[in-house]
Amino acid sequence: MSIDSDFPPDPQGPDETWESLDLRGAAFEDSEADIAAREQAALDAPDTVDHLIEVVHMQTICAAQALLRVNELRHDALADAARHGRILTDVVERSIRLEIAAALRITENAAGRMMTMSEALVHRYPAVLDSFSAARMSERHAEVLVETLDGIEPEFRKAVLERGVELAESQPLGAFRRRLAALVETVRAATLDERHEQALDRRRVVLDPVDGAMTWIMLYIPAVEARAVFERATRMAKVLAAQEGETRTLDQLRADVVSDLLIEGDTFLHPAEARGIRSTVAVTVPALALLVEQLPAGSAPATVEGVGPIPLHRARELCGAADGWMRILTHPETGMVLSVGREQYRPPPSLRRLVRWRADRCMGPGCGMPASRCEIDHQIAWEDGGHTSLGNLSPLCKGHHIVKHHGGWVVRQVDGGAGAIEWISPTGRRYVVEPERRVPVFRPHDEADAPF
Ligand SMILES: [Zn+2]
Repeated sequence: MSIDSDFPPDPQGPDETWESLDLRGAAFEDSEADIAAREQAALDAPDTVDHLIEVVHMQTICAAQALLRVNELRHDALADAARHGRILTDVVERSIRLEIAAALRITENAAGRMMTMSEALVHRYPAVLDSFSAARMSERHAEVLVETLDGIEPEFRKAVLERGVELAESQPLGAFRRRLAALVETVRAATLDERHEQALDRRRVVLDPVDGAMTWIMLYIPAVEARAVFERATRMAKVLAAQEGETRTLDQLRADVVSDLLIEGDTFLHPAEARGIRSTVAVTVPALALLVEQLPAGSAPATVEGVGPIPLHRARELCGAADGWMRILTHPETGMVLSVGREQYRPPPSLRRLVRWRADRCMGPGCGMPASRCEIDHQIAWEDGGHTSLGNLSPLCKGHHIVKHHGGWVVRQVDGGAGAIEWISPTGRRYVVEPERRVPVFRPHDEADAPF
């Protein structure tokens, strides 16, 4: 499973910093009454956190006001130029940009961004301006939303705008970005079938000789199959790489495996362990999709790990296929091992994968650490009678794990929250972190080989 390559460094510092902390004597003991009293105190009188929030809200309101002034300036200058018969809008815009940059002692680039933003807010997305200028969303949220809206086809903007504002007003920046991207995919999924059909017509194999010695052979095929081909070749190559005396690189091995397979079919060139390998790619399907012809509008599309949304009929085919696909249905179903209760402390691999898959990220507020790099936390500690079950497990990065246990926070799953957990801070504030995915059913095709 790939990890975001542009994933920012852990804001809490490297794990080693945490490892070396001496945590003796740092434990907090909280009774239910303590927690309730703390929450009440947060409501009763404003404290320093309230003052901080207030100052930041004022900053946001001022930032919105600044953009409104920029828009006014631009509007006036353009109107003035028009009255004087000057129609060189570009020159007028450039001149305003220079004025703003000089007046604020910022670069013209930065001034230009203010102008673009103010124009978008005032003329195209007043709903965003409304929320931003009342500090219901931060300036950064507003920027991300405007950028996203500008980047999609005009016919999808209205649908994304409405829900996008709701997300911006409720989600921390990282989760907001991811959910906004998922929303865009969902909205676009309506035209997915058509786009895929057209693209499919152009599939082909191309030879592109580079020199006398080497030639590229290229397969232009649907992304799902391409992913499966690559995945299988990689896994076979890794088996070969582990053989004694093997010196070829993974790239070389992959190339050899693919050409051996295409030329020979199943071949005795490969050791027995490599020959049985089939690809395993995770397909996520709304379970409803397997039962009804047409999904209700606005339903999340079926997706393939590492590829993105795919048409529903393709997903149905993949789910009906004999093997090679790990099927994840986003709907509850019976017969699942979702809990091993008090039988064992360490969750079995399938449960660990499910816990990670559901959250996708560390469940610390605003944390973006991929779940694959997190530890699995028992919300109610094992020592205190906590169960090893989906309802009591979440991934936490090292830093958040330590803050949870030693930082005076209370962390627990929200009842009926389908994996949402709440963090109650030392000052008594409550922050709810939603998992990226909801109540899934997980049916690994082959537990040992599943990619997560
Ligand atoms: Zn974290």
